[in-house]
Amino acid sequence: MDDMRERLERELRGTVERLRQLGGALLLEEPGVIGYNSPLPDEIEEIQVSREREITFATRSLLVDRANKLADALERLGSGAYGVCEECGEPIAPARLRAMPEVTTCVRCQDRIERQARQAEPVGSLFGVVEEEEE
Ligand SMILES: [Zn+2]
Repeated sequence: MDDMRERLERELRGTVERLRQLGGALLLEEPGVIGYNSPLPDEIEEIQVSREREITFATRSLLVDRANKLADALERLGSGAYGVCEECGEPIAPARLRAMPEVTTCVRCQDRIERQARQAEPVGSLFGVVEEEEE
């Protein structure tokens, strides 16, 4: 289990490092830095910048999420609760923990949770069908 702690700490450091790098990228995207002398209309520039920013925010929130999970996992490791599914209380497969050290559920529970999440989505987005009858 000491291996796992090392692994988790390394992943956590890596995730925090990437977050720091994203922080720098965000500053570069400030309006006025991009778009100087640009022949493009301001509107297009703004759309591009805000889209990049959205992606950055999405990436950032994923990374923050991951950092939190890794920190949680380290805590669980300390308290001896690490590697136990928080849904059903069964041990999580070691191969799964090696692949994703921050997971808190076993494969079966993860499957069930993902299926429930998919079912909660509107039917249209599930099948990628846009309503055609209107045309
Ligand atoms: Zn489970």
